[in-house]
Order: sequence, then C-alpha cells, then structure tokens
Amino acid sequence: MSLQPADTHPALLGSLLPPSGVPLLNFSPGPTSLAAEVQAGIKALFDAQRMCSMYLSHRSPEFLDILTNTVQRCRMAMDIPQQYEILFMHGGGHGQFAAVPLNLCPHGDEKATYLVNGTWSKRALSEASKYCRPIVVSSESVAGTFTHNPSFENLDPESKYVYLCSNETVNGIELHHLPKLSIKAPLVIDASSDFSTKPIDWVGCNVGVLYACASKNIGHPGVTLCVIRRDLLGTPSKLCPGVLCYTTNAREGNLWNTIATFNVEVVNIYMQWMIAQGGVHEMERRSIAKSAMLYDLIDKSEGFYSTPISDPSIRSRMNIPFDVAGGDEETTRNFLVQAWERGIVGLRTLTPFGVGKYLRASLYNGVSVQQTEGLVAFMADFLKTYRTQ
Ligand SMILES: *Cc1c(COP(=O)(O)O)cnc(C)c1O
Repeated sequence: MSLQPADTHPALLGSLLPPSGVPLLNFSPGPTSLAAEVQAGIKALFDAQRMCSMYLSHRSPEFLDILTNTVQRCRMAMDIPQQYEILFMHGGGHGQFAAVPLNLCPHGDEKATYLVNGTWSKRALSEASKYCRPIVVSSESVAGTFTHNPSFENLDPESKYVYLCSNETVNGIELHHLPKLSIKAPLVIDASSDFSTKPIDWVGCNVGVLYACASKNIGHPGVTLCVIRRDLLGTPSKLCPGVLCYTTNAREGNLWNTIATFNVEVVNIYMQWMIAQGGVHEMERRSIAKSAMLYDLIDKSEGFYSTPISDPSIRSRMNIPFDVAGGDEETTRNFLVQAWERGIVGLRTLTPFGVGKYLRASLYNGVSVQQTEGLVAFMADFLKTYRTQ
C-alpha cells in the first residue's frame, strides 16, 4: 500500500467514494445509504407509468393518496396511537429545536426542563433559550465530554415539558427505552437518529412530541417526521411561524404550504420496506446484533480499540465512537486509508462540532448485518497485522 501525503488522500478528507471496483460499505452518520430494496423502490418510481411525487402537485388526488398511505404506514410501523397527529415538516432537526418551545410555550417565559446528554440536546437547549425558560440538567463534564445521562429524578414539576434526545448521534449515548418520569410534564423526544430502530411506549412514557429528521433512519434530508399528541395543539406562541406550527399544519392536513412531496414518498417506500422486513422489532433485533459485533471486538481488543461509553446499558446501537491505538495519528491514518481501500467509508466525517478524537461507525437500518460483518472483519485484520508487526 502506498500512502499519499497525509492530508491529500481522499480517505483522510472524508471522501465517501472508495476506489472503483470495491463494494461500498457506508458507515456515515447521516445522510447515509438506504437499504438496497429502498433504493430500488425509489428508482422504480421513475420507471412506472404513473407520475412520481417529484412532479405531482401536492394537492392532487394522486399525491393525497401517497400522503395518506405514508401517514398510515408510519402509524402502523411505529404503533402510533390515534390520539397523535403525524406531520411532515420542513426545517430538519434544527427547525424542531425552535418549533418545540414555540408550540408549547405560548408566553415565551414558561419553564421547560432540558436533559442534556450530548451535543445535539445541548444545541437544542441553546436554540430553545430564545423562546422559553429552560431548566438545564446536564451530564457534561468539565472537559466538555458526555459519557452518561443526567439524573431523571427530582425534575421541576412546573416544567411545560421535559426535553430529551433518545440517541446522541455524536457522543454514542442511547436510551434503549424511554424513561417514565415521576412528574406530569410530557416528554419531548429528539429521535432523529434512532427512530424506527426500536419500539416506543407512546402512552406509557407520556410522550407529548417526538420528531426525527429523515436523513438517518427514514429517508433522505428535507423532511422531518413530527408526532404530536393532540391535547398539546391549540396554544402556540403568537410568534410561531406557520411552517413550524403544529396546530396550523395539523389543521391543514400537512398541506398548509407545499409539503416535501418526493421526500414523503421516500419515507413511504422506507416504511413499506421496514414492515416487509418484519417491522420495528426486527429492526431492533438487527441493531442489537450489529452493534454487539462491533462492541465485542472493541472490548476484546485489549485497548487497541476503545469506546468512550463504558456502561453497556447506554451504549448507542446506532453510532459507535471508537479510537485506534489510543488515537495515535499515524495508526489512525493507516486505518482510514486501508478501510477506504476496502470500500469502508464514513468513519471520520466532519460534524458541526468539529472532528472529534473518535472515529465513528453508524449502523442505521440501511446498514445490513453483512455490511457490519465486513467492517468488523477489517477491524480484526487490522488489529492482527498491527500486533504482528
Ligand atoms: C442529525 C441530527 C440532528 C440535526 O438534524 P438536521 O436535519 O441537520 O437539522 C438533530 N438531532 C439529532 C439527534 C441528530 O442526529
């Protein structure tokens, strides 16, 4: 293997295009690859005689069919009770950081508890500070790292809601089950990176709002799925823009403005695929199997690989941060270049929070068990070669 000068090699610039001829194994944190069947389903939209949602009017009967189907499939796949509205909104996860307080805090000075367990909940908190009075319960260390959850006990009972990110994509912390809080306030969940990978106890856990941007586990960027319990509608802030307003969008059946038609149809195809594969329980089974393979290898590598989260009960099944040889730069570079030569990409990407100390493997629903085996086999080989040098 010939190493090119360090910072010009595509593998080190985060290129997602491996050399031609090797099959792509994409472990990007999102946007990311879709399952082969979902890709085929999208391609078929353009082959079919019927018109594809990319150029259907959003108010045509044909698109209304697609929309109704998509809502029903989401409800079915994720067992969403009838008392919840399902919205397809613009603005991504970041839009929801503002939408949540704008919809739930009409006066702008209401208290809302923010449980901060990683970079995304921290960002949500900073956005929410403009529109409500957040009470911060954070597990951030003095050094700025997150390795556990904050306590879910003794929360302020006057909170309008309790905000929580169920999978911290960057830090690798996941709640495998939502908590049952002892206060009455509803949960607001950012499930952007774990939605559709495990069942949700909507009623038992008092979920008020749950949202997921599409680019991790339900489609591609440009649409955000929002699930809102109906009793929380009707009292947005007067400042809440129409496009972010749950009440307006629910009243208008998702058609107050132009919905992201094609993105919604992709969600439909994705949900159809998921249901055909065995549904959310099967996705959970695969997530457990895929992540266990990788954590096992890391834990048995005698420190050659390490992951920052030591408590297995909160280790993310979606995003697995790890370092190579204690973060040694040259070894990490070799690792990335050799991985890339085998088609393995997406392990080091830029985030809004910079390039961290850790590489990260993301194992969303679109990543198969077999692809994960490919990564694990490479990591085992790399370890063996390094040991025998
Ligand atoms: C990716 C991500 C976001 C940001 O979503 P955008 O669509 O880029 O706004 C928010 N929260 C979590 C947990 C994420 O993984």
